[in-house]
Amino acid sequence: MNPSRGFEYSAKSDYLCFPINRYSVYDTDSYDVIVIGAGAAGMMAAGTAARNGKKVLVIEKMEKAGRKIRITGKGRCNLTNARPPEEFASQVRTNAEFFATAFAEFNNRATIRFFERQGVKLDVERGDRVFPRSGKAWDVANALEAWCLDNSVEFRFNTRVTGLLTLGNKIFGVRYMNRRGFERKEEARQVIIATGGVSYPATGSTGDGYTFAADLGHTIEPLRPSLTPLISPHPQLRDLHGLLLRNVRATLFIDNEPVREEFGEIGFSERGIEGAIALRMSRDAVDALIDERRVKIVLDLKPALTPEILRERIHREIAGMPEEEFFAELMRKLVPKPMVMPLCRELDIQSKTYLKKIDDRLIGRLITVLKGFVLPVTDYAPFEYAVVTAGGVCCDEINRHTMESLKIKGLYFAGEVLDLDANTGGYNLQIAFSTGRLAGMLKQ
Ligand SMILES: Cc1cc2nc3c(=O)[nH]c(=O)nc-3n(C[C@H](O)[C@H](O)[C@H](O)COP(=O)(O)OP(=O)(O)OC[C@H]3O[C@@H](n4cnc5c(N)ncnc54)[C@H](O)[C@@H]3O)c2cc1C
Repeated sequence: MNPSRGFEYSAKSDYLCFPINRYSVYDTDSYDVIVIGAGAAGMMAAGTAARNGKKVLVIEKMEKAGRKIRITGKGRCNLTNARPPEEFASQVRTNAEFFATAFAEFNNRATIRFFERQGVKLDVERGDRVFPRSGKAWDVANALEAWCLDNSVEFRFNTRVTGLLTLGNKIFGVRYMNRRGFERKEEARQVIIATGGVSYPATGSTGDGYTFAADLGHTIEPLRPSLTPLISPHPQLRDLHGLLLRNVRATLFIDNEPVREEFGEIGFSERGIEGAIALRMSRDAVDALIDERRVKIVLDLKPALTPEILRERIHREIAGMPEEEFFAELMRKLVPKPMVMPLCRELDIQSKTYLKKIDDRLIGRLITVLKGFVLPVTDYAPFEYAVVTAGGVCCDEINRHTMESLKIKGLYFAGEVLDLDANTGGYNLQIAFSTGRLAGMLKQ
């Protein structure tokens, strides 16, 4: 058969048979760089390499680019944080020092300039969080993809990389499953793994990059859900379900030692707590639970008032109410309505107790509960609900100035696949952009 014809006639079956098992029917010019994954890190890496004159192919197993970006920030995409760059490191929870070189190359200001140059207008909101003015996360994903295409990056969607091709300690390409379910090879002297973590696997991040890296001798630091809801057996949670409290102070205790304090929003679900405070605390809470340590979160529902001022306030409220009023009415003046009954139960007092029966001891207990509502934490939500994956490819085995593997020449890593994770607030996407940019420079 003549391969240049691209097909052959089978006398046996009367079918036109495409010889896809033996010959490529595609353009056979090979690529300089293959990027695995069209997420935030992969697209930043691909566009950077292409802009520097490389022929770049991005292989993405989903049907389109940036599936995860499109759901970030509740569909609004908190793409970075505008706080001074020197304060960034304190928000990176693992390997902040390793991340510093990538961040120095492409920091939060560079990210802001980059997207504004791509025509995405941005706004800075509470907590210095940066969002597209349109309020649409897909503007960020589309801008990255358009930038890649403008720089002649090729995308191959619905195509899953299944392994890496190496010769000795050098990379020379990837194996992949094409959209028809056939395994093929594509060669390139440089490969960038940007496959993300394992959280929200429906977006395509299912941890394949860890397998590729481990197969080539890289260490994978244990994977744990981070920025994930926490589970509590507290009996009142069922009735607090759906409540969101703002301006709460929370203290995380591990083995009865206070280890972290947060201020902000907390949300209650039937099984536990979520919202910004719970997510930020989850990083330490998950690790402590894995180590089988005791975890609890204590909420100060009246953080602006000292116990003494709160006592005065309660006495003032009581003085202004008829003696025949119920305790529940007093509570209505102190906490949101959905908390009244759960707090009465917590205090073990009937909601219809007359105010005239309220004594100083009960007021003392009420102050203790308002200033210290204790939620034991016994578990955490799995990866399906976690915003990021903690753990991943060990950073000690990566050159921090290039993102190249110290074990395999020509192999680079970018984004969440690395053992890097940060707090909420736009820091995790910045990790993807900074490491993607540095990897895409393909410094050796
Ligand atoms: C619900 C949610 C909200 C979030 N909100 C924010 C936010 O507002 N701000 C913020 O900073 N961070 C946020 N994050 C975290 C942030 O989205 C991630 O840290 C970031 O997207 C990671 O980028 P990445 O490119 O490393 O990985 P990903 O975005 O996960 O991209 C990896 C890509 O690789 C592809 N892939 C995987 N394996 C293969 C394979 N074998 N072959 C081909 N392709 C493959 C996947 O399909 C995927 O497209 C949020 C995360 C979630 C889940």
